[in-house]
Amino acid sequence: MSNPFLKQVFNKDKTFRPKRKFEPGTQRFELHKRAQASLNAGLDLKLAVQLPTGEELNDWVAVHVVDFFNRINLIYGTISDGCTEQSCPIMSGGPKYEYRWQDEHKFRKPTALSAPRYMDLLMDWIEVQINNEDIFPTSVGTPFPKNFLQVVRKILSRLFRVFVHVYIHHFDRIAQMGSEAHVNTCYKHFYYFVKEFGLIDTKELEPLVPWGSHPHCSAQSGSRSSFLQPHSTHYPGRRSCLHRH
Ligand SMILES: [Zn+2]
Repeated sequence: MSNPFLKQVFNKDKTFRPKRKFEPGTQRFELHKRAQASLNAGLDLKLAVQLPTGEELNDWVAVHVVDFFNRINLIYGTISDGCTEQSCPIMSGGPKYEYRWQDEHKFRKPTALSAPRYMDLLMDWIEVQINNEDIFPTSVGTPFPKNFLQVVRKILSRLFRVFVHVYIHHFDRIAQMGSEAHVNTCYKHFYYFVKEFGLIDTKELEPLVPWGSHPHCSAQSGSRSSFLQPHSTHYPGRRSCLHRH
């Protein structure tokens, strides 16, 4: 590819993956619209994530997983030019958290990778999952697989790591672009959602604990955001990596 413009577009496409859309007219599209409407109406996020009466849990979860993927993918896309092999040779969240990649193909063993490389694999992997009809069926009446929530847990805990990395390593950029409130709202929504349905272990959520939810945090006030403080910054001297796969 010699045309520099084309090359740029190509790279952009890789970062800004096409949004997975809900087909208009389907039940899931209606559910998606309903979830969006309650958000737009300014409903308390803690309430907005609750399963509406009469709806199926799996449908509700599926709609949110796709939506979070789209939003988090965009957030990472906006800072990705500053997340390079040089700036982030390790996929980490401060000195305390390091994430290693593992999959069923090339990386059978947990492998330390640079953040951009890890993000690429992570987004690709999630994209494959949510586009797999056997896991995320789009046609009404097609049942979800038995291990649906298990797959969802893995998707969400991997998406969570994007937040960890972005918050801890690229927050200045987010603030510089004036996207702080947007990112905070997205994370808050994500956090309440996974808490509501117990989709990520509390231990896994430790790097980004909201104010007041952690005994060490409750007495402090935040400069980073009014909602959370990356937990790792509380222990600058202590270096212990938690390898999560
Ligand atoms: Zn980075």
